[in-house]
Amino acid sequence: MPYSMTKSQNIAKSSKSKKVEDKLFQTAKAIAKRGKNVFFTGAGISTESGIPDYRGKGGVWRNYRPIYFNDFMTSKEARIEYWRRKHHLLKDLDKALPNQAHLALNYFHQMGLLNMIITQNVDGLHRKSGVPKDKIIELHGNTTRVRCMSCGDIYPMKDVRERIDSGDSAPECHCGGYLKTDTISFGQSMPADEVNRAFFHARNCDFFCVIGSTLLVQPAAQIPQYAKSKGAFLSIINLSETPCDQICDIMIREKAGEALSKIMQQVSILLCL
Ligand SMILES: [Zn+2]
Repeated sequence: MPYSMTKSQNIAKSSKSKKVEDKLFQTAKAIAKRGKNVFFTGAGISTESGIPDYRGKGGVWRNYRPIYFNDFMTSKEARIEYWRRKHHLLKDLDKALPNQAHLALNYFHQMGLLNMIITQNVDGLHRKSGVPKDKIIELHGNTTRVRCMSCGDIYPMKDVRERIDSGDSAPECHCGGYLKTDTISFGQSMPADEVNRAFFHARNCDFFCVIGSTLLVQPAAQIPQYAKSKGAFLSIINLSETPCDQICDIMIREKAGEALSKIMQQVSILLCL
């Protein structure tokens, strides 16, 4: 009975989209309540800005063996390769603009509905979207800065790129230390201050929303779990499964930009009521 199959498929499809609409609305309502709202973002929020998801399908790390921190510190060859890859990545970043999802978070900030963004991304797009830096915790650092691994001095990326362009393939500090983007590499420990601040905000929030993260890198998975255990309402917007799917209040399998722009519209309506 092909007709009835099609009909039932259509009903299933429309009830599914109704269900998604309902989940988006529940999330919008939670945001508009004016409690403490924390947003946790991963690579999935930036793919719509043209930034590759390192670990995802077709991601950079699937094509190349990652350069571990220890290799960077012990091998000049690894440092040259590190900067060669960064150079390509930075060209992508130069062109990247915040997308609908970043802009929605900036809207929440402007409406006084955003306490903190905790991000795994190093692309700086939350800042580019207009959210002030005191509202952003960058767990994995930021590629717009360069740090000396010996004395800790910070250099602007622009200066280091000029050196690379003029042939310095593994730039070093005035102290002789190795220069590296101020980001966390594989095998490098997470910045304690940022991690502590992230847990503090997870503990003290009313609403916690994961956007575009598979929550596979620790301590990423622990942060939403912690927020939930302390009583927060937990929404997850991600295209694939996460280890927190079972404990969340709302699970939305949509692209970040599409979901957030719909949520933003609903929040703006709720604020007028
Ligand atoms: Zn130095």
